[in-house]
Formats: sequence, structure tokens, C-alpha cells
Amino acid sequence: MRKVFILSILSVVIVFGFAKRNYLNGRVKSGLTKPVNCKNCDIEFNEKNSIHILATKNSSLHSPIKKEIGIRKYLKNKSLVPLKDGEGYTIDKMPYSYPFLTAKTISFIEALGMEFKTACELSHLRCRPFIITSALRTKETVNKLQKINPNAIKESTHLYGCTFDIAWSRFGYGNDPDQEMLDLLIPCLKNMQKKRKCRIKFEMNQSCFHITALQ
Ligand SMILES: [Zn+2]
Repeated sequence: MRKVFILSILSVVIVFGFAKRNYLNGRVKSGLTKPVNCKNCDIEFNEKNSIHILATKNSSLHSPIKKEIGIRKYLKNKSLVPLKDGEGYTIDKMPYSYPFLTAKTISFIEALGMEFKTACELSHLRCRPFIITSALRTKETVNKLQKINPNAIKESTHLYGCTFDIAWSRFGYGNDPDQEMLDLLIPCLKNMQKKRKCRIKFEMNQSCFHITALQ
């Protein structure tokens, strides 16, 4: 009897915990989170690596940096600028890249973040920031990445400071999937692409949008 009582108390605590977490995420959901559907993303965002490479030609970072220590020089001469959380977006932990990009790329991200935030407000939804999962890579981090992911490209546009990745499978304030937020983010990305401000490739396996801002 005592065992049954303890088990009942435990289930109440667990259920309450789930409900509270989901409420804090902006809405009450039933049960576990569902996977999201990135509708037509593979068709809408299919610009190849060669097109992204062309888009990096005017980057203020002319050639790839070999190792982490080399980043300092480019921060000093302002070819690279630190990437920090902003309106509508947040920065993830980046084990295989560094949170630095060219100033023009950061301006692009700021504009995208504002557009996304406005879309949330117009839809009367609490905005959960999109997550930037990767930014600048050095030759050293590309080599490390290739060891765990043989599909990682050696000629990575992440080497030029104008490419970054946005997660489509999770959003900030909970780090879990959110179909509503994704449905708001997709038109913002399409709009930027239409204005020729960026190149975008949908990455299914990496669960991200690979984006190169035009310089
Ligand atoms: Zn990428």
C-alpha cells in the first residue's frame, strides 16, 4: 500500500514537471514533443556548395585560417567580429567552430532576427529565438570534423567567415522542436533569399540551414 502511495506521488511530480516545462516553453503541450516537418525545405533551399563558395569571394576574410591562434589577427584588424546573442536569435555551443563572422554577416543575422521577431509579434506568438549552431571554422576544425563526419566538405565555406548554420529542429527557451516557430522562420529565410542577400542549403542530416550571407 505504501509502495503504491509513493508511486502515485512520484507520477504526479513527473507529470507536473513535464507540464511546467512545456508551459515555460510558451504553450502547454500534451505528452512528449513531436518531430517537426520542414515543408519543401529540400526543394526551396537547395543551393549547392559551389554557389556558396562563389558568394564568399568578397569576404573580408580572404583566406582560411589554419588554427585558433590565427583568429586574433583578424579580430584585431576587424575582418572578423564576435557573434553574440541578439534579437530573435541565440548562439549554441560550437564544438567544431568559433563564434566569429564578418561584420556584414552579423548585420545580415541581425536583420533576419528582427524579421523573425516581427513575424512572431504579428502572429501573436511568444518568440523562441532561432539557434545558430555553427559559424567560423579553421582548417584544423574542418579536419577534426571530417574525422567524425566523413561527409564534411574540405572546401567548407565556413572557412571564410560569412557562412553559419541555423537549427531547424529546435529553438531557444527549451531547445526542442517547434513547428510554429519553424513555419515562421521559413518565410523569413525565403524573403532574404529572394532579396539576394544570401545562399541557403537545407541540411537534412545535420538538422540545419547552411547559410552564406552575400558580402
Ligand atoms: Zn554549414
